[in-house]
Amino acid sequence: MSRILIRGGTLYDPKKRTEGRYDLLIDKGRIVKISDQIPSTEAPTVLNVKGLAIFPGFIDLHAHFREPGEEHKEDLESGSRSALAGGFVAVCVMPNTRPPLSDRSRIEYIRSREEELRLIKILPVGTITKERVGKELAELLEMRDAGAVAFSDDGAWVADGALMRHALEYSRWLHAPIVSHAEDPTLARGVMHEGEVSDVLGLKGRPRISEDVAVFRDLALAELTGGYLHVAHVSSYSAARLIQEAKQRGVHVTAEVTPHHLTFTDERLRSFDTCYKVNPPLREEQDRRALIEALKEGVIDVVATDHAPHTDFEKEADFLQAPPGMIGIQWAFAQLYTFLVLTGEVDLWTLLDALTWKPAKILGEPQWGQIEEGYPAHLTLVDLQHEWVLEERRILSKSKNTPLLGEKLRGWVRWTMVAGKLFSVDDLLG
Ligand SMILES: [Zn+2]
Repeated sequence: MSRILIRGGTLYDPKKRTEGRYDLLIDKGRIVKISDQIPSTEAPTVLNVKGLAIFPGFIDLHAHFREPGEEHKEDLESGSRSALAGGFVAVCVMPNTRPPLSDRSRIEYIRSREEELRLIKILPVGTITKERVGKELAELLEMRDAGAVAFSDDGAWVADGALMRHALEYSRWLHAPIVSHAEDPTLARGVMHEGEVSDVLGLKGRPRISEDVAVFRDLALAELTGGYLHVAHVSSYSAARLIQEAKQRGVHVTAEVTPHHLTFTDERLRSFDTCYKVNPPLREEQDRRALIEALKEGVIDVVATDHAPHTDFEKEADFLQAPPGMIGIQWAFAQLYTFLVLTGEVDLWTLLDALTWKPAKILGEPQWGQIEEGYPAHLTLVDLQHEWVLEERRILSKSKNTPLLGEKLRGWVRWTMVAGKLFSVDDLLG
């Protein structure tokens, strides 16, 4: 079964901006031949994918799979299966677990689970500070050696500037980014974006300035140290502008945006659906539009899901008590395709860039996110015509905290291939 011929699909190469009908021969986990016609005698298994789009396998730089410690919300297996159904071949898992991923053995644990499960590539992100409490730098080098691909205290900003400076100095020879959850907590004590809607609802806000000052400081430290900063989930138009200016000055910074910040605004909170409570918060239409522009211009490099499972019980609490975050790795592509590509706001190529070779580049994996002979066979096969309704029974995550239930989406992942291993989404859904 290691030799497979994939026939009749339309191959999209985002880096070259080309598409065309090609057959792909896969052997021992790699793409060995790409040609307009490969005879079926070349492989014992032939997969006919006429009518499907073949994309490089998607990569998510930001997800919460909750293992260890909160396996009732998600674990590495349910998270990986959701990812596969969403077309993701590699996912960075954030370290705000219990205990946090803040030493070598905990990073090794994630890597051993990845080996055991043999589903997607699970890429652990280690904490920046010991136990993620912001007091002391964690053993970054040891974690890097054990397989950590980046470092972040996600969920919390590293408020201690000297610590962040030190971490960014390290990042230069770790060849791994320092990922900042950029919100100054002293300015972000509320539960939603501070603006007209928060005034009407009488809820305390998290203003843009809480994000902007944090981004500003982190960019300044990256500039000073020459370190490598990655700004997680950019949500304010002004933060996007700061990143643009820093990039123009040559600061070594990359940035991500989530599907929810690209498709929703704070208007949605009028429904009082706590699924819309996220950090940083959903902001205004001008922010959403600026994020789209930033993505198109390459100021924001990638789309990352920030898939954040929580129980119904927690999300049924009131707005003040409910934990922030929503799930979405399983339909991130469909959500973006339906609400941004089909509406004409973003072209398909920009979306593919942000899900494939750009995140691969940030991870230092140049052979991921591209379809070339000799490269690992990481592929996502999508039916772009297929319309479907997001129903609870289709959700593979252990949690159901999404505001998109009942929503009609277009774009259905049929197959995901990870290093030559083929997964059928129909089989995953059972
Ligand atoms: Zn975060």
